[in-house]
Amino acid sequence: MAEDSSNPYRLPRGVVPRRYELRLEPDLEAFTFAGTVGVDIEVLEPVDDIVLNAAELEINEGDLDGVALAGIDYDDEHERAVLRLGGSASPGPARLNLSFTGTLNDQLRGFYRSTFTDDDGDERVIATTQFESTNARRAFPCWDEPDLKAVFEVTLVVPDNLMAVSSGAEISSQATGDGRRAVSFASTMEMSTYLLAFIVGPLEATEPVDVNGTPLRIVHPIGKGHLTEYALDAGAFCLSFFEDYFAIDYPGDKLDLVAIPDFAFGAMENMGCVTFREILLLLDPDSSTQQERQTAVDVIAHELAHMWFGNLVTMKWWNGIWLKEAFATFCEMLAVDAYRPDWKRWLAFGLSRAAAFDVDALAATRAIEYPVVSPADAEGMYDLLTYEKGAAAVRMLEQYLGADQFRDGVRHYLRHHSYANTETHDLWDALAESTGEPARDVMDSWIFQGGHPVVTAAAGDDGTVTLSQSRFRYDGQTDDARWQVPVVAAVGTDTGERTDRLVLEDPVALGGDRPVWVMVNSGADGFYRVAYEGELLDRLLDGGPDLDPLQRYVLVDDQWALTVADRLAVADYLGFAERMAIAEDDLAVWRRLAGTLGTLDHMVPDAGQAGLQARVRAMVGPAWGRVGWEPVAGENDRIGELRGVLARTLAVGGNDAEAIARCRGLMAAEGVDPALAAAAIAVVAATGDEADYEEIHQRYENAPTPQLELRYLMALTTFDNPALMDRTLAATLDGTVRSQDAGFVLRGCLENRNHGPRAWAYIAEQWDEINQRLPSAIVPRMLGGISALSTPELATEVDAFLEAHPVPQGPLIVAQHLERQRINVQLRRRVQEALG
Ligand SMILES: [Zn+2]
Repeated sequence: MAEDSSNPYRLPRGVVPRRYELRLEPDLEAFTFAGTVGVDIEVLEPVDDIVLNAAELEINEGDLDGVALAGIDYDDEHERAVLRLGGSASPGPARLNLSFTGTLNDQLRGFYRSTFTDDDGDERVIATTQFESTNARRAFPCWDEPDLKAVFEVTLVVPDNLMAVSSGAEISSQATGDGRRAVSFASTMEMSTYLLAFIVGPLEATEPVDVNGTPLRIVHPIGKGHLTEYALDAGAFCLSFFEDYFAIDYPGDKLDLVAIPDFAFGAMENMGCVTFREILLLLDPDSSTQQERQTAVDVIAHELAHMWFGNLVTMKWWNGIWLKEAFATFCEMLAVDAYRPDWKRWLAFGLSRAAAFDVDALAATRAIEYPVVSPADAEGMYDLLTYEKGAAAVRMLEQYLGADQFRDGVRHYLRHHSYANTETHDLWDALAESTGEPARDVMDSWIFQGGHPVVTAAAGDDGTVTLSQSRFRYDGQTDDARWQVPVVAAVGTDTGERTDRLVLEDPVALGGDRPVWVMVNSGADGFYRVAYEGELLDRLLDGGPDLDPLQRYVLVDDQWALTVADRLAVADYLGFAERMAIAEDDLAVWRRLAGTLGTLDHMVPDAGQAGLQARVRAMVGPAWGRVGWEPVAGENDRIGELRGVLARTLAVGGNDAEAIARCRGLMAAEGVDPALAAAAIAVVAATGDEADYEEIHQRYENAPTPQLELRYLMALTTFDNPALMDRTLAATLDGTVRSQDAGFVLRGCLENRNHGPRAWAYIAEQWDEINQRLPSAIVPRMLGGISALSTPELATEVDAFLEAHPVPQGPLIVAQHLERQRINVQLRRRVQEALG
């Protein structure tokens, strides 16, 4: 949405801010704060009052150029204050001064409090900020829209024994004579309000690392310095990587990565002062799995990419959120792939892409970009479609344009729009300018319409192969939506192999020699499904080339999607999976296979479970024979991780008594390889009794790292015992589990094979309490677990409940979960027929 004066959520533009001088005095005992803000403003047209954003704040007094305000009115609905001037302000620069007070809330937004228990067992309080999208207005009165950029100068008055950080570098610290200090920070660059941060608490910082002149530190709750080395190394790498990729120096004067014990999201790209969940910054490389380390580096890379893409160049309005998020997610893969090439990050991206495909195959999907009137409209944008489908679309474009040409276009875009704001098409235009390719034409069909196509390859009687597209939906419905599909296909003929590239719109026969086999989406970066008709799949698998892991991954993922959509029989999928499993050694492919086998196990009737377990054991067997229980010194991280996936699949999915016994032994042992240790916990939990529950619960309470804490916590959701399920459920609301984690625990409980319905009954009963306690954005995500409740009776019950108890912060996400649940009801029926 452009600047539209009829939008009641846009501030009038007669007065704009240039520079804020903000002074805040938080009281960490009373959970309040007092502040003053002096704003250098520019009056652009004569005004009688000044309208800015304020929410949950009391503005006590104010003046404009020394003349006291005549009055203040609040517009709670639009979170605004109207400052009445008692006269007219004429165009030109002016100075607005306001003093105000507010509350350090426990809602994990605005200026809020987070608590932790220190090594002495004392509860300590941190005051911290989370402003995106529109919560800066809960910390100080401001023009809280992304295109009203300004410079910020922050001073925090804090008790002597606490540390304070903000977006700018600390420039002075003066005693105030009352046991406190006034800590002042350098001016920020010109930026949006949502990117400002300030944090006060019992914190420590690592020694700074110099990255091309920028000091980089990890800031963390006291006593956790021994867990910072890994993130510091990754952060330094990523900062330097992006300076090189974007060919622009880091735009801040220092960079702190800050670990916060209570955090609603994963991390937040505040300028110069990036905040994270502890699990993403504080880790012990010796006890964490490759997956846990990769997740941390992913998020660090993602946030650092934002320093340019989002912070230096910012969307004009909230409809543009998706672009910065999709792009930063794409940058994650780039940077992590460079940091650890052996992790094969683009292969692992297939798994997150699969999650986006899964939502996007529903009738209730949405376009990646859509009109946003109120900021609340954009809340639904922080989802898989933005991050993962968006990133996949960016990757598809990058591969279509060529990686170097794409990077040059991005550099051009960032240089041209530095310190300013853009619309989505500004990026496509910059790419078109620098590559000569019509980027906008290709992208519009992916960005402004929901869903994605299935490309069908069909062999004619004369041996030609024709490609055509139609919308892919799980419910079997289709419509006349069309995409510009950049297709890359490997083609084998009697005389050799070739690669065909085309932009598919209408059906087209592949030219040239007649194909013996075809692999559509052979680069595996197209965001579309592929269906092979007739014998084409067999011809590819029997007579085709050696497929690389990414190609095998895409085949498995597509065949499973076709199964969910009832275009492939369950029995045929299982046969296909058995065929693929024989020679498969790749982690990503196995993760996908194991995920689909887990779904089948969840749905198979009790009478058929033993039969399925036997087939799972047979599938895992050959790979297990190659990988085995014993890690080999110096082996690739992905082999270790594969061992964990296979052990877990064999023990839980295959119900292999020996593997279960071995895992029990590993759980009790010391110094076990992290991937095996993680698998062992999962296996013991899924097959264990009350004593095992006690042991894992104990370990959760005393976990030495955030990774182990989460591992143990999530294991508590998988016990096959109703009384233990009840204990885990109760822990989400009695203060045992942090509110930031409670939603994920409840989701895990919903997904419990035998006791998911019990978890649902609890959620329905405690609905009000859950909504009070959990961060609001997490509630719709928690409900993702309902798709596992795949009986017709439960589907009806859940549907009726959510009809009566709507979730206003995520109605579309909830509609997607409900639709996915109905799809699973159908899938379960077919699984029961096939495997009963
Ligand atoms: Zn982001």
